[in-house]
Amino acid sequence: MALKLYSSAERAGILRAAQAAAATLAAIGERLAPGISTAQIDRWVREETARQGGRPSQLGYHGFPASVCTSRNDVVCHGIPREDELLAPGDIVNVDVTTELGGFHGDTSATFCIGDVAAPARRLVETTREALAAGIAAVRPGAFVGDIGAAIARVAAREGFGVVRDYCGHGIGRSMHESPQICHVGRRGEGPRLRVGMVFTIEPMLTLGEPASWVDRDGWTVRTVDGRWSAQFEHTVAVVEEGVAVLSVTDSSTSRCQRRSDSRQPLGSRRC
Ligand code: MG
Repeated sequence: MALKLYSSAERAGILRAAQAAAATLAAIGERLAPGISTAQIDRWVREETARQGGRPSQLGYHGFPASVCTSRNDVVCHGIPREDELLAPGDIVNVDVTTELGGFHGDTSATFCIGDVAAPARRLVETTREALAAGIAAVRPGAFVGDIGAAIARVAAREGFGVVRDYCGHGIGRSMHESPQICHVGRRGEGPRLRVGMVFTIEPMLTLGEPASWVDRDGWTVRTVDGRWSAQFEHTVAVVEEGVAVLSVTDSSTSRCQRRSDSRQPLGSRRC
């Protein structure tokens, strides 16, 4: 499939959708606490998304029954919110928000720590956040998709964490999922070249143990095979002439543009 290149006007539309998703995610992050059910997160996402003027892209997608994915502890991704799943002190939970607004989609997620989280899990969360930042820093016109995965895998390997290979980032814009796939492992100089106008997600999933995963009986929930915990962070980014623009940020005044040398930036979610 040909890689879609979005004009600056189209990228402005994707930016608005991604900012709405980021605002929803930030609002949810402020409210998470022990005793909250993941179904409550789903209700908040519906309300917040509507307040932003958008629609939850995930609701009904291939039959997905909720407006958000909530992935707790050993769940890698695609967890379905439930009334009987309550957040407990020491948990980590990823909240993955995708918003459709004005015909465009924006996608972002963060992993939140509930109360006091054990040191290894906290380190997993912080390293995953850092891995996303490293992946974003590899994006510029003329770089390769493989550069992104290589940068992420280097950060994970430094800490001895696994990188999930079964699920990838993806092009996004007029549809929630488009080409290219953005794998979170890779080799520098391999894969499609990045060009101005490409818009995609980077969403590394790191694991405390082995990265092998399986899909639960509900047909959606992805868990680690070894039962050890997984964390994920995600941004929607655009390749721009200056390097990379992170679109899924709450600051409405500007999308964060950075040159390749500016490797670190705030990722807009609560720290452990
Ligand atoms: Mg995504």
